[in-house]
Amino acid sequence: MGKVISVAIPKGGVGKTTTSVNLAASLAVIERKTLLIDMDPSGACAVSLGFTPDKIHGDIFNLLAFSKSIDQITHKTFLDHLDFIPANILNFEAEERLERLTYNVYLFRNILQTIINKYDFIIIDCPPYLRGMTNFALTASDSILIPVKGGHLSLMALKKILNHIVHIRKNQNPKLEVEGILLSMYEPNTRAWEITEGKVFKSLGKYVFKTTVPKSTFIAEATYLGKPAVIFDAKSRGSISFLKLAKELIVRNSICPLIKNLTNSEKAINKSDLYGV
Ligand code: ATP
Ligand code: MG
Repeated sequence: MGKVISVAIPKGGVGKTTTSVNLAASLAVIERKTLLIDMDPSGACAVSLGFTPDKIHGDIFNLLAFSKSIDQITHKTFLDHLDFIPANILNFEAEERLERLTYNVYLFRNILQTIINKYDFIIIDCPPYLRGMTNFALTASDSILIPVKGGHLSLMALKKILNHIVHIRKNQNPKLEVEGILLSMYEPNTRAWEITEGKVFKSLGKYVFKTTVPKSTFIAEATYLGKPAVIFDAKSRGSISFLKLAKELIVRNSICPLIKNLTNSEKAINKSDLYGV
């Protein structure tokens, strides 16, 4: 049965989409059958994978509105092991309607259950806010991967998502686990990162991935190339970090089955003190 991982934090521009796309592509490269789902109405995953609107034959909106089946909106990609469900929300009315569809929080989870056996991993790219699609995704997920960028605002967003995890566990999805915290756009020799790392490691050290993703102009440019960085140049520093992240995630999951660290992570979340920078 596949593992469903949401990439989420209520902060924009921290690397959620970049991580989702490159992690999904990396898992596919190492032959794990992977589905990438874009839950952000801005539709950035499609751009990163080189899907122009004419190549999109259905999206998450069609699925949730019951106008198309999950098979009809699942797109094949240039990688044998990677499938993709885009978000191709073209106007405000559609986005509002989509928001209303998310009131039934279990709808998406029930739909995912019908295809879960086809994949090893399902990676969901979430928007930079908690309501609606993120809530929907977390209700349907086994775990959450949290990208964190250096700086005080990132720490505030991390605190917010950790509180939200406790809320989701209580109300909608008791099995939601923290997959890991990813240091994204990492610049080790800066004061902002020194403080961020100190705070994160102190409270939540064991959830931080050993792999960090460096700040890299190549990763930033790759969006324009219509292919994930890991496909365009697998030897670049940024690409190597995503391939390492995929491997670390696979190893972690084979050594440390989900249910074992559930209570520990609940304790860590409650104890975490990320304020007072
Ligand atoms: P949003 O919340 O707006 O959807 P996001 O969290 O999904 O944002 P991305 O779109 O992945 O963030 O990244 C934001 C910008 O930073 C993009 O222009 C992306 O190309 C760039 N970027 C992402 N990761 C890196 C990196 N490691 N090094 C340099 N630039 C990066
Ligand atoms: Mg994004």
